[in-house]
This record gives sequence, C-alpha cells and structure tokens, in this order.
Amino acid sequence: MNRVRVLLLNAALGPLDYRVPEAMDAPFGSIVMVPLGPRKVPGVVWEPESFPSEEIDFKKLRPLLEVREVPPLRAPLRRLIEWTASYYFASPASVLRMVLSSGAAFADTRPMIEYRLNGTLPDRMTPQREQALDKLIDVQGTISELSFKADVSVAVIRGLEKLGMFDRIEIAPFADLALPAPDHDIVDLSDDQKRVSATLIKAVQDRKFQPYLLDGVTGSGKTEVYFEAVAEALRQDRQVLVLLPEIALTEPFLNRFHARFGAEPVAWHSGMKQSDRKKNWRALADGSAKVVVGARSALFLPYANLGLIIVDEAHESSFKQEDGVRYHARDVAVMRGLHEQIPVVLASATPAIESRHQVEQGNYQLLELPARFGGATMPTIEALDLTQDIPARGSWLAPSLINALEDNLGKGEQSLLFLNRRGFAPLTLCRTCGDRINCPNCTAWMVEHRLTQRLACHHCGHVIPVPEKCPECGDEDSLVACGPGVERICDEVKMLFPAARTAIVTSDTIWSPQRAADFVTQMEAGAIDIVVGTQLVTKGYHFPNLTLVGVVDADIGLEGGDLRAAERSFQQIAQVAGRAGRAAKPGHVYVQTRQPKARVIQALIENDRDGFYAAEIEARRAAQAPPFARWAAIIISSEDNGEAMETARLIGQTAPKVDGFSVFGPAPAPLAMLRGRHRHRLLVHSLRSVDLQDILRDWLEKLEWPRAVRVGVDVDPYSFV
Ligand SMILES: [Zn+2]
Ligand SMILES: [Zn+2]
Repeated sequence: MNRVRVLLLNAALGPLDYRVPEAMDAPFGSIVMVPLGPRKVPGVVWEPESFPSEEIDFKKLRPLLEVREVPPLRAPLRRLIEWTASYYFASPASVLRMVLSSGAAFADTRPMIEYRLNGTLPDRMTPQREQALDKLIDVQGTISELSFKADVSVAVIRGLEKLGMFDRIEIAPFADLALPAPDHDIVDLSDDQKRVSATLIKAVQDRKFQPYLLDGVTGSGKTEVYFEAVAEALRQDRQVLVLLPEIALTEPFLNRFHARFGAEPVAWHSGMKQSDRKKNWRALADGSAKVVVGARSALFLPYANLGLIIVDEAHESSFKQEDGVRYHARDVAVMRGLHEQIPVVLASATPAIESRHQVEQGNYQLLELPARFGGATMPTIEALDLTQDIPARGSWLAPSLINALEDNLGKGEQSLLFLNRRGFAPLTLCRTCGDRINCPNCTAWMVEHRLTQRLACHHCGHVIPVPEKCPECGDEDSLVACGPGVERICDEVKMLFPAARTAIVTSDTIWSPQRAADFVTQMEAGAIDIVVGTQLVTKGYHFPNLTLVGVVDADIGLEGGDLRAAERSFQQIAQVAGRAGRAAKPGHVYVQTRQPKARVIQALIENDRDGFYAAEIEARRAAQAPPFARWAAIIISSEDNGEAMETARLIGQTAPKVDGFSVFGPAPAPLAMLRGRHRHRLLVHSLRSVDLQDILRDWLEKLEWPRAVRVGVDVDPYSFV
C-alpha cells in the first residue's frame, strides 16, 4: 500500500496522509503539492513514526498531486525541525515554514517578472503617482515590492503599469554564481592566528560534530582565522553558513569576503527581493551556492552538503527570535551541527556566559586569540564620574570628554559617541499638567524623532506628528523633551564643534545593507569626524583612524536589572570600546557613569575580562540562574484584559507541583500592553535535573482557553518584559 504522511505549512492542521499515485516516487523529505479541501498546497513527505496518528482507510485518501523538482529535505534537517519544534514549543509547521521560506523557489521554474520605470509620465498626475515616480527611480522589483518601496498602494503601481510607465524585465530562476576561490588572496597570519586556524582546518577535514568557542579580543583578526576554515571547506567542495547578527553587517562582510575569495557569497536576509530569494534558495538547495551569509533565518535553509557553520558575534542577543518560533539561533546552530555531524564555530570578543560554561563543561573547545593583530594595542579605558565631571546645563557630555573630542578633531582623527537610544528624546512631558505622552497601544513612551518631526512608539511603530499643545490639558508650548537620544547628542556636538562633520548611525539611518556600505565608504574616506550611534556601531566595523570612543551613559543598561543586565552592559561597552585604535594609532575610551565603582565599570577600566566573567558566573551559580538552572516564560495575551487575566489565573492555579520546578505569577507583564493586547506572565524556574519541556507540555496541553487568547511559551528567554 503506497501511502505517505505529509507535513503541511498550516499550524492548525496536523500532518495528513495521502495516497501516492502509480509511477510517482515520493521519498521522505520530498516537497510535494497536495489537495486540501478545494485548494492545492505545499507540504513535505515525512516519516510517519515522527507524528503518530490514527490510520485512515486507504480508500478515503486523496492522491499526491505532484512532487516538486527540487532536492528532498535531508534527514538531518528533518530531525532539526522536529527538535526545534519540540524544544521551543512551536508547531512543526511553523518551523517548516522557515525552511520553505521562498514559496516561489519550489513553486516553479518559470522566470519572474520585475518592473522598472521607463521614464514616461502619466497624463494625469496624482500625489500618490508623483510619490511613486519619485521614490522608484533606479528601483526594480515585483509589483508588491514597488508598492512597499514607494509607500503607495498596490493599485497605484498597477495603474501606472497599465499606463505603460514600467518596463517588464524577465528574471531567470537560476542564479549565475561566481565561485569563491579558496586561494584567491592568501593573507599573512600571526602565529596565534595560524595555530587557531590549523585546528579549524583539521576540524573541517575530520567531518564530525564539534562546537568551538573562538574567543578573541576586539581587533584580533577572528574573521581572517575562520576564513581559513571556510577555504578548507571550499577545497572539500562543501558548503559553509556564516550567521551574522544584523543585516547591516552583511555588506561590509561581503566586501571582506570578496577580497579574500575573489567572489561574493550568497546572501540571505529579510531585506532581499523575491527574485533573489528564489535564486538563492535554489542555489543552496542544489549545492551550487558554496557560501551563504545571512541573518538567523538562514539557519533553517535546505543546504545540499553543509560542511561548516560559523556564528559571528555569537554573544549578540539579536540571535534570539522574540516572536513566532522563539528560538535562539546560536543554540540551534549547534544542534544543526550535531545533526549534520559538522564543526560549528561561535566567534566573539565577549562570549556569552552560557558559551563559556559549555567550555568549562567540556562540551565546546576553546580557541583563544589573546592579542590584537599587527601589534595594535588594546585601547585605554577611563571612567568619567558624572557626579564630579558635571556636564553643563542642558548638556550631556562631561567637560573632559568635550576636551578629548576637541583634541581628537585637532589631530584629524575620528571619534565615536555611543548611546543606545534612537531618536531625539525618550520622553515628552507636559510642564503644566505632568502628562507623559504614551503610546495608545503599548505600555511605553512615545519617542521624539526630530529628524522626521514625529513621535514614535518603538514597540508597535505607531507614529504621530509632534503635538503643538499638550494632548491632556491643552496648554500650548508646555511640552518638553526629557533625556537624550542620539539625535540630541548629535545636536550638542554640532553646537560645540560647528565645523565637525557628523553622522548618526541607528536603524533609522542605516536601514539597508546599501546604507551601511555608504557609511563605511564615508568613514574610510575620512568624510566623517564624529559618529553618534546606537548598538549598531558596536560591532564588526574596522576603521583605522577611529581613535576616540565616548560612552554617553554607561548606566542605562544596568537599569533593567534582569539576569543578564551586567553581562550585556559589559559586552556592549567592551564591543564599542573595541572600535577604538584598531591599527597603528592607539585608542582611548571615556565611559560616562554615575557609578564609577560598579563592578562592570571597574572590570572595563582594568581590562579584567576574566575577573568579571568569573565573578558573574559565581553570582549566577549562587542565584541558581542560567546556565546553572533554566527559566521559561508563559505569556498570555488578549485584546480583552478580563479574558487574558482569567486564562493566566487558570494556568497559575493548575501549576504542577514537582521538585525542582517552581512557578511565579501570574502577574501583569512589565510591558502590560503591547500592540493593543493586554499581557500577563508566569515565570517558570527549573533545575537542570528536571525535564522542563515535558512538564510544561503535560500541564498546558490539558487546559483550554478562549480562542482570542494567545498563550506563548518562551524557553530560555532573553527578554523579561
Ligand atoms: Zn498638559
Ligand atoms: Zn506602541
């Protein structure tokens, strides 16, 4: 009897059985089209024992319609999908959706059509048409991509298309890829780099699972070292995946890669055009793409013969996905390495405590690069006590920092001021009635963005024009901006040094790889004197003439007080400090703080990484915090607060009593409202000896709640709001 079980992309449906027609061959992993009601939908043929269910009479089964002409998903990837779904409380369908994330790729091999303005103008102009014609100069894409780029409706674009404003361009479904050459440009490595790269080359040759923690101070040349392992994988004709924490970092990375290997790797991130997604998906699935660099979503792609995974800046919390499937890409990368039986390299200058713990446990092998490359020295770090070195009224920069900036400008060297706050001011307050302008959808303040003259909510994206009078009491000219964001710091810099050329670097100004590339070009050409930026400038960049770094407020990160606050502050400041003095000229870092004696600040000044980590790990051990025990968060949300509260109470009341397993809450979440939904939360703490997922599953599967209530489980959470 020829029947198969098919996993569909619909999370509400379990896997369904289908009949395989004569003369059709559908081995496990095949991507197939099946009938579902009146529709035809994609799915993947799966081992029935993975999803046991009742046998349906063979005669009642509907037939598979088609097996797609793409390679079947390999067994290691099928096991990874099952593991991810089970570990992170997600449906296998929602994990599978990340694998099949380019619907067009496996749908057909017809060319795609893209459109491009051809210069003709419509007889009748409307404001929307004018906006589209203006914004789409030199842009090419599908109708929906053009509509998104021009910020007008699809109907407007279709209208212009009918009038003949666009040229139609056929895009071939297969990529024409230049192959990276392992020996294109051999670089001179230091002795330390040679020693470490030899280990990694051997690991690639051995073809077995082994995680490595590549721990090298900022500027030590970690990239050059792992490039040697990439070269070895290329010689062996195996694929490499390099994960980066931010799309903005892809462009500088592509350039470095191109210089070393003579061709670009294949990119994968959310900003890609559909036609590129289609080509790249196919190329990595059939093995013609050798190296893929991408954001965390690249982890679940169907590589043909993966030989090596690299997670760069592995400590970054942006590897943790906070909605949908709440997975941590660093941890899933290690699991993928295990299933594929290949080495995984986690590279960082400030490794996560979890990763260091794995080294101590003997699970990961430690590879160290203790010195900067080419004789460059580590920057000196000095704390500026804001209670002594007091900024002038209405100013946020201490006199000593201003002097240092002035000196650096005089020397013709570049400076960087770091503040992890986008916009002009985090809070707008009414002087008359004390009202703070809040987001109507979230428990959050509206942040003023002076560049765009708007107030914006950083949680839901709600924007309003800056009001002229207080929305509460109606008083005019009573609203004041409180506290600084990067725009305000940049204003202060311009006031102090009118001749200095400044740049603001945040996700508002660097929203695409191209913008990041432009910024790099300007910095390298010396066209910028002072950069003011958020965490976006803390990693990856290498500017030889950048010698001064000022941390505007080192105390911000410690305010939240969650379990990783100290670690995160240390990492962030060490990373931004690491941008200074990376070449011949030495770097200096000034850290503004009200708590110069805090352990984090002291460790940074004394360059005592090991001491800081040792103390932090001891504190975690004493508090039974991760990695010594585990947390999970259960988040209940609904537009109806009563329903959400009722469900949270039900979950709390039925909490199982198991040794080593404790439940806290329910309580309103710190972010009590998000995107119009009321949120309540329970926190679960469990010892390592207890099977956290099993207990959670037993507990939650028995309960029922109203349809409009969402209950999400966040295993190993990073965000506690
Ligand atoms: Zn008011
Ligand atoms: Zn909001």
